[in-house]
Amino acid sequence: DYGTAPESATDALAWIAGTGPRFGHFLGGAYREAGETFETRNPATGEVLAEITQGTAEDVEAAVAAARAAQPGWEGLGGKGRARVLYAIARLVQKHSRLFAVLESLEGGKPIRESRDIDIPLVARHFYHHAGLAQLFDTENAGRKAWGVCGQIVPWNFPLLMLAWKIAPALAAGNTVVLKPAEWTSLTALLFGDICRQAGLPEGVVNIVTGDGETGAALVASDIDKVAFTGSTDVGRKIREATAGRGLGLTLELGGKSPYIVFEDADLDSAVEGLVDAIWFNGGQVCCAGSRLLVQEGIAEAFHAKLKARMDKLRVGDPLDKSIDVGAIVDPEQLSRIRALVDGTDEGEIHRAACEIPEGCFYPPTLVTGLSQASRLMQEEIFGPVLVSTTFRTPSEAVQIANDTRYGLAASLWSENINTCLDIAPKIAAGVVWINGTNMFDAAAGFGGVRESGFGREGGPEGLEAYMRPLHRGDALEKAAA
Ligand code: NAD
Repeated sequence: DYGTAPESATDALAWIAGTGPRFGHFLGGAYREAGETFETRNPATGEVLAEITQGTAEDVEAAVAAARAAQPGWEGLGGKGRARVLYAIARLVQKHSRLFAVLESLEGGKPIRESRDIDIPLVARHFYHHAGLAQLFDTENAGRKAWGVCGQIVPWNFPLLMLAWKIAPALAAGNTVVLKPAEWTSLTALLFGDICRQAGLPEGVVNIVTGDGETGAALVASDIDKVAFTGSTDVGRKIREATAGRGLGLTLELGGKSPYIVFEDADLDSAVEGLVDAIWFNGGQVCCAGSRLLVQEGIAEAFHAKLKARMDKLRVGDPLDKSIDVGAIVDPEQLSRIRALVDGTDEGEIHRAACEIPEGCFYPPTLVTGLSQASRLMQEEIFGPVLVSTTFRTPSEAVQIANDTRYGLAASLWSENINTCLDIAPKIAAGVVWINGTNMFDAAAGFGGVRESGFGREGGPEGLEAYMRPLHRGDALEKAAA
């Protein structure tokens, strides 16, 4: 019962893990002693929250061995047995959602309103949905089986939600996992270990190994059957190379520079409000952020004026304050990246929101207009609260500009004429196109990209399929030998 834990969220986690504020891996159903550690900090204050173990190749090997040993039993439990545990996980995430939300905002800098009302509810929803899929698994998926042991690597921008996107389908299909959280945000993944214990998940089915990119690379190189990665396109490329020719399953969810297209007949107030969600949700640190505004020439001036007025009213500050809109940037390193990109441009006009910006790891909501299509800001993922804007004359020009990118994750279209939207949507290279909306996620709908935004889907029936492979003759021989 977390009710008896101390007030502070990190203390609560230390109390649960029984390891003090120095956290070891969650491996084989138990928290291990911390090894060599690095610090994790609250980006809003710079305060050290905890020490996290830097996973070694040996740690990864031990976790993979635990997952390997647990896999046949977990798959053998059958879909209905697995569903029972997944339902229990979903209920426990809901029960402890407050602690999860506080930890997520403390460590990641995201507004508590988002972690409490969006991230954690979506996590619970993901587990409920996959519990349902597990329930039907044996009747719906004859002729296929789990890959086996999955190595899963997630980024820092949605720590627990990306964990849920990876672990829920893997478990539903009968796989066991070794998951590595991002080095800036390990705490909620570690707490999730205890949720697994409480839910009665057998030991070794879920293992959390913390550490940086080196730990991630060791996991990719280890004796696993499938890799699921969410992160940057550059690391995605390395993982693709490292897995080539090994016969592994692979899904990659990578970066984006998603277009947000406003036609002249759009409801402009709604389109401005949608933009707040598209680019300032989680401070723009969102893979599918609507980070490129394309606005039709005739309304560009009026639209930009409305947008700037709205930007000036955004509240930037303490992520734990319920009234703020934009929290902290996750780490000073990331802040320097954003600064270097924006300040390094000699093109265009920069508008920074007039709101107060606290000292420290914060960046103002920013709009850059008047850039050339080829400019770095127009082409590169900034991964911060920075919107770039350009204009178009005709719908076909909008399509051409929207597709002039190496990415293809998401797009938003804004028009009161549904025919315009339905005509344009299929012409845009993107995994998801939202009409008069943005950033809408559902566990029942597959999410993923095309081009350099990756391949494979998470969520929906496609997401579950990515965790299965066809049966082959070796399986029958193995069964006979057993
Ligand atoms: P990143 O690629 O630097 O790190 C992601 C994860 O990979 C971390 O856990 C990191 O430790 C690990 N890693 C780093 N180097 C590795 C290596 N060589 N081998 C194995 N693992 C390694 O990305 P980030 O900066 O943490 O996250 C931001 C990126 O993630 C952005 O590009 C964003 O668009 C993308 N993202 C994509 C989605 C999606 O669903 N498509 C969702 C969220 C974030």
